[in-house]
Amino acid sequence: MSSINSFAVIAQTDPRAGYLAQRADIDAAITRVLEGGSYILGGEVEAFEAAFAQFIGVPYAVGCASGTDAIELALRAANVGAGDLVFTVSHTAVATVAAIERAGAGAVLVDVEPGTYTMAPDELARALKAVASGRPAAVLPVHIYGQPADLSPLAEIARARGLQLIEDCAQSHGAVYHGRLTGSFGDIGCFSFYPTKNLGALGDGGMVVTKDPALAAALREIREYGWRERYVSARPGTNSRLDAMQAAVLRVKLAALTAGNARRRAIAERYDAGLAGLPLALPARRPGTGHVFHQYVIRLAERDALRASLREAGIGTGIHYPVPVHCQPAYIGRLVSGPSGLGITERAASQILSLPIYPQLPDEAVDRVIAGIRTFFR
Ligand SMILES: *Cc1c(COP(=O)(O)O)cnc(C)c1O
Repeated sequence: MSSINSFAVIAQTDPRAGYLAQRADIDAAITRVLEGGSYILGGEVEAFEAAFAQFIGVPYAVGCASGTDAIELALRAANVGAGDLVFTVSHTAVATVAAIERAGAGAVLVDVEPGTYTMAPDELARALKAVASGRPAAVLPVHIYGQPADLSPLAEIARARGLQLIEDCAQSHGAVYHGRLTGSFGDIGCFSFYPTKNLGALGDGGMVVTKDPALAAALREIREYGWRERYVSARPGTNSRLDAMQAAVLRVKLAALTAGNARRRAIAERYDAGLAGLPLALPARRPGTGHVFHQYVIRLAERDALRASLREAGIGTGIHYPVPVHCQPAYIGRLVSGPSGLGITERAASQILSLPIYPQLPDEAVDRVIAGIRTFFR
């Protein structure tokens, strides 16, 4: 019998495995912060911000409390708010749209491309032409599952209309589009460090990256009460700071991100080979990009039956996401969508299935998932 026996449950994701893989270094970093006596922002956060900015290839990175906050802060720093429209997708975490509304702007939902599930540039163009009220202010594509959206045409459309391009990179740490890392392509990039992301904290955390020093200065003010100097608010702000402990942990984990992403790609290739020829759609790869496989998502009509069958076999799966934002009870009937509707988004939601993937997942477990899927179709 192999080390992964046929009874062990295979989790869809496992942030604890990521901790255990770097346990000594993470424990040492936490102890250093505990003993240092400074627990919010400060040197640890500055060191991580510098390391992350260098990794992404931008001059400025500003830590904050979550990925949701990163998007809200980015919009506020870019002066996007009441009366403004932000063009994004419905095939995303509800956080994307929640952050737009928190900033005071309205979300316009654009359908996705059928293969990559990222914002369709022609749909963005159509949605912009169809605007009846409100002022278009920003385009906010999501690099869903770790695959970059088609940034060149999206940027061209945004530039022609004078709109900000703000990237939701919550699932794309280290993903590459035409030689540049996601987050460095647009005006602002927004990252989440939720524990299961490709770069995950041991709690909440987020980061905003930019090339623009004025935006970086605004972000630093807004994340802490609008302070330009201590106790003096230069503008309305909020509290969205990054903890020193999370920053210290994240700096340890950043050093393992590239290897972790390479392992995710190797797992994806193993799935591709093992599932070839079955009546299901494998993940598409956009040419000219480096996918970092935050999720490995297959697609089939019998999704729910396959999911139940895998669960019986002790294999965990996920659905990202089962309900598009515009169909959520909180948003139904009140979000604007592009003129051709959200048919591709809605059909995808009922057919997508995320297989187990995380860097510590062994090949034997991947093979058991493949065997479980092959058994279902036999
Ligand atoms: C996780 C995620 C967010 C929100 O990040 P939090 O840190 O959970 O607030 C936003 N957008 C996408 C696409 C995400 O996957």
